[in-house]
Amino acid sequence: MSTEITVVKATEKKTKPDENTLGFGKFFTDHMFVMDYEKGKGWHSPRVIPYEPISLDPATMVFHYGQTVFEGLKAYSTTDGKTLLFRPEKNFERLNRSCDRLSIPNIDQEVVLGGLKELVRVDREWIPKAEGTSLYIRPFILPTETNLRVAPASSYKFVIILSPVGSYYPEGIHPVSISVEKEYTRAVLGGTGTAKTAGNYCAGYIAQEKASQQGAAQVLWLDGVEKKYIEEVGSMNVFFKINGEVVTPILNGSILEGITRMSIIELLKEWNIPVVERKLSLDEFIEAYENGQVEEVFGTGTAAVISPVGEFRFKDNQMMINNRETGELSRKLYETITGIQTGRIADPFQWTEEV
Ligand SMILES: *Cc1c(COP(=O)(O)O)cnc(C)c1O
Repeated sequence: MSTEITVVKATEKKTKPDENTLGFGKFFTDHMFVMDYEKGKGWHSPRVIPYEPISLDPATMVFHYGQTVFEGLKAYSTTDGKTLLFRPEKNFERLNRSCDRLSIPNIDQEVVLGGLKELVRVDREWIPKAEGTSLYIRPFILPTETNLRVAPASSYKFVIILSPVGSYYPEGIHPVSISVEKEYTRAVLGGTGTAKTAGNYCAGYIAQEKASQQGAAQVLWLDGVEKKYIEEVGSMNVFFKINGEVVTPILNGSILEGITRMSIIELLKEWNIPVVERKLSLDEFIEAYENGQVEEVFGTGTAAVISPVGEFRFKDNQMMINNRETGELSRKLYETITGIQTGRIADPFQWTEEV
């Protein structure tokens, strides 16, 4: 298979949006990266081409059984004009783990990272410069075989699209309220919770809607078997600072392995702040709360980096965290990670990669 990446430039360029109106995932750049797979031939024809619609037969498998996987990462523009990616190899390692779970053939991580860099170079002028903005990168794979049989497809498309996105915190980092979800489940052991696959997200909409109606921003997900242990918050991993120690749920086979989560654990260890990965039950959390030991709670993910939790709503109870203020550790983690991502501060871990 030829892994040479061909580039076809768009003849017409789109008008770029105002950096103050970006929001999330509303605008897309002039180009996309595409690569195809056929059984017997493997992945082939990696290419950067003008951004265009994908036309598919109504019987294409993607419309029926959801055999898809995706990733989410960002490119950042530094003040001295460089473009940085944050641990991109981790995203492609995770994409292959998602592929394994969804019976999709693995991609060659080197080829795909090369393709991503080529795409970002071609669309470099789309990377927004304003504070907090970035270029969101969405790699995804869809089955392209035309067939209604319930089985893995024999052909796929791998695509990367780019979207300039605004600051997650246009008014500065601020805590949100979270509703504890006791009825619906995000994922169970043996299911697809550790994979970034479409079905996990739409299955959570109903709980998210319920939370919104109660005035909460996100859902706190509990384990699907006993509804006892804390797993994630919305589409983020979750951390608790209890009595000076940072606790995050251990990767138990139904929690998504966040790259922000991994980076935070590494940072805390470097800072000699006690951090443990273990099971944390809702009951244990409530007890610690009642004893006044809960100092900070925050979600972590690529989109927000750190999302402080100011309040939990559970039945008729409201548990206020740190006076609804952003905690000192949450803020320090946010400043450090965004600082490394944008080249504002040194990167002792070599997490960033220049494009
Ligand atoms: C993507 C995702 C996360 C966060 O992962 P990052 O690599 O840190 O962006 C956490 N939970 C779920 C369910 C996710 O889909």
